Amino acid sequence: MKKTSLILWTLAMVACSTQKKIVDIPIIFDEQRVELTKEYLLNRYEIEQDTPLITPKMVVLHWTAIPSLKKSFEAFNRSTLPNWRPDIENVSGLNVSAHFLVDQDGTIYRLMPETTMARHTIGLNHCAIGIENVGGTEGFPLTKQQLKSNIYLVNYLASKYDIDYVIGHQEYTLFEGHPLWLEVDDGYRTKKTDPGMDFVEKVRNATKKFNFKPVPTKQ
Ligand SMILES: [Zn+2]
Repeated sequence: MKKTSLILWTLAMVACSTQKKIVDIPIIFDEQRVELTKEYLLNRYEIEQDTPLITPKMVVLHWTAIPSLKKSFEAFNRSTLPNWRPDIENVSGLNVSAHFLVDQDGTIYRLMPETTMARHTIGLNHCAIGIENVGGTEGFPLTKQQLKSNIYLVNYLASKYDIDYVIGHQEYTLFEGHPLWLEVDDGYRTKKTDPGMDFVEKVRNATKKFNFKPVPTKQ
């Protein structure tokens, strides 16, 4: 191929791969959040490091159980847990978040860098990229557009990182005893039902080419 046509081909490929836009709307990640994230890595996982960075091995799919994008964003934006989650406040003050937030119309928003730790899945945050979907409440089930965008994101992330697993949040406790499970407190669990196995299976079926590992079965 001639050099100019190679450049044109490369540009076309770049344009093609970014066809579905990822819109950056960063949540607050101030010094307090950095410190709380490092503290979380140390206290929950015994990982001591100077940065809040992770090595992604897994993608976890969620729903926010909040019907609007604005309210979902607000739930993740502040650095510390608001008072309405006292059930997990004694564990760490770090607010919950996820790397991506997908609106009901399928628009993909990136809330934070993909390799910074987000608090979204007990035991696995040190290796898991979180995708939250707006909705999941009665009257606001997840949509076809969200499904398409989740499939797009898994393709994007599995092409970029060494991803072994794609799981639904409701499956997370199946990793207890797995080498990736690092939570130190056996009593620290929350029961999850998001985002529904139908949604998870559809995403897995559409991304079979990556040969993700099967989720461990309970002993
Ligand atoms: Zn969840």
